[in-house]
Amino acid sequence: MTNGQVVTRFAPSPTGFLHLGNVRTALLNWLFARQQSGRFLLRFEDTDRSRSSELYERAIMEDLDWLGLHWDGKPGHQSERSAIHQQALCRLAEQGHAYRCFCSERQLELDRKLAASRGLPPRYVGRCRHLARHEAESRAMEGEPFVWRLAARDTQGKVELCDLLRDRVCFERSDLDDPVLVRSDGRFTFLLPNALDDALDGITHVLRGDDHLTNSAYQVLMLHELGHMPPVYVHHGLLLGADGAKLSKRTGGTSVRELREQGLLPMALVQAMARLGHPNMPDDLDLQTLIRSFDIRRLSTSAVRWDPERMWRWHARLIHESEPETLLPAIRERLPQADAEFVRLIQANLERFEDALKYRRLLDPHASLSREAMDVARQAGVGFYRTAVSLWEEDPKASDWRTWTSRLGGQTGLKGRDLFLPLRVALTGALAGPEMRAVVDYLGYEGVRDRMRTIMEVLES
Ligand code: GLU
Repeated sequence: MTNGQVVTRFAPSPTGFLHLGNVRTALLNWLFARQQSGRFLLRFEDTDRSRSSELYERAIMEDLDWLGLHWDGKPGHQSERSAIHQQALCRLAEQGHAYRCFCSERQLELDRKLAASRGLPPRYVGRCRHLARHEAESRAMEGEPFVWRLAARDTQGKVELCDLLRDRVCFERSDLDDPVLVRSDGRFTFLLPNALDDALDGITHVLRGDDHLTNSAYQVLMLHELGHMPPVYVHHGLLLGADGAKLSKRTGGTSVRELREQGLLPMALVQAMARLGHPNMPDDLDLQTLIRSFDIRRLSTSAVRWDPERMWRWHARLIHESEPETLLPAIRERLPQADAEFVRLIQANLERFEDALKYRRLLDPHASLSREAMDVARQAGVGFYRTAVSLWEEDPKASDWRTWTSRLGGQTGLKGRDLFLPLRVALTGALAGPEMRAVVDYLGYEGVRDRMRTIMEVLES
């Protein structure tokens, strides 16, 4: 550890938009760093130049910002250290820890089949591992394609790594493979650059999914051979789709972009995510409480399932609990005439922002009615509304919901739903919603009168 300070990082490949698996990794690393008063770095693993793009980098940063997961310092780029990665590879090769492998894909496929037929795991057989260096070099010089492999597998020895969620993680080297470090087109796989950059960036803790456990063993081995201290790992359980399969579009795995476009409030995603695999997270909807309550040792090593409905329930709760002013921009995107009073009136009736559209008649007396609302109005009939308007207009100063409806009930003989629903429909446009007393106060004398008149016009036309 550098001065005992915790340093974590989020290291996405900028080859697509931020997805929910990324959000979980970023959030956990961010929570731990913030709680420990440490640093949280952002590093783009952009060595795959053909698939990486600045557009995705910008999008990822925007999405992290939107979530409130701010990083420290300038974002790093793996590609900036290409020369260092290359030097490290040479060093491993010189020490006999990395070697060129010339086996063709076809040969490897045959090896895998043979292993499978014998009930053995599909590991590299080690054919090229003991090629004499001068032979390997001359074959490479002649243009024969090759990959670089890490010489990890051995008849004896162990690799141990420190994982905060597991007592001791120990791999027998005889169980390991010789993974590819550099592909035949010269591109590094993630193993070496990722581990070396962590060491050079002073990363103290790596929180990531347990699908990386074996990768960590290779990385620890490599770091030791390169003379670096490996980080402490926290391999948490994976995030799965609602059906227990890999998270995908079909199982509710959308990108953050899509959720933003659907109007989701960021804290709903953060809250839903922070609770997964972490018992007893409080249900306060604010980042500071989450930071305080985060306990890294309680993170579950079992897989967790993503439930988009739960996230949307947090979203609804946020809508209900937020100050109207903070919701106004999202409502105005859908209803430009909306003001804070309108939001205050309807917010308790919203699950999603687009639900506000149901109440557009509160803002515009001429807003058309849905078919269901129109059926209610037709059934009440123009006569009902005529009586209602004349009672309303009788004494503008005394026009309030209670007096109005009790007089209207008296004259028409209607009560309950038969009396109130046609009024609700005429004033709000919706079949359910805020309390009518509040609706009438919000609309005021003229607002009520205008809506009653327009509904009569519609029924008479
Ligand atoms: N770029 C790697 C990934 O997105 C980083 C993995 C890690 O967190 O070490 O999977």
